[in-house]
Amino acid sequence: MSQLEYIKNENKKHSEIFKDGNLPLPPSRKIAVLACMDARLLVDQVLGLKIGEAHIIRNAGGIATDDAIRSLIISHELLGTKEIIVVNHTNCSMVTFKDEDLQKIISEKYNNDTTNIRFHAFESVEDNVKNQIKHIRSVPFLSEIISVSGFIYDVSTGNITQVS
Ligand SMILES: [Zn+2]
Repeated sequence: MSQLEYIKNENKKHSEIFKDGNLPLPPSRKIAVLACMDARLLVDQVLGLKIGEAHIIRNAGGIATDDAIRSLIISHELLGTKEIIVVNHTNCSMVTFKDEDLQKIISEKYNNDTTNIRFHAFESVEDNVKNQIKHIRSVPFLSEIISVSGFIYDVSTGNITQVS
């Protein structure tokens, strides 16, 4: 079975037992999560979030990029979220390379200029979480957000640790 056939099949099973078709649009817990895209980090499960309860924005490294900020502003201003949670994790691929390394690899591979592509690789997961919190806190359009907190998820134990 191809991956596409697999997901179509799984969705058929999902829709047969689906009962949450009438939920309101705004997230009921008023939480927006910005998390790394790592496949081992099932954000909903890890944080005990259920359908309709939170926005989850994900990218490589859980970085507060312009696009993540765009989503957070929509989440807050139009859909009423009041708390932001940044989630990173142990064993993150973002600490395994430097932006310049990846720029060089794909620049040579595709014979194209990559100097304007920022990958946001980092050296410390903890520092990265702190930097994202700081960045989110600096956005004037998110100044009414009640709290911006950060956690590191341990992929080997399933525990989260708050970054203070
Ligand atoms: Zn990661």
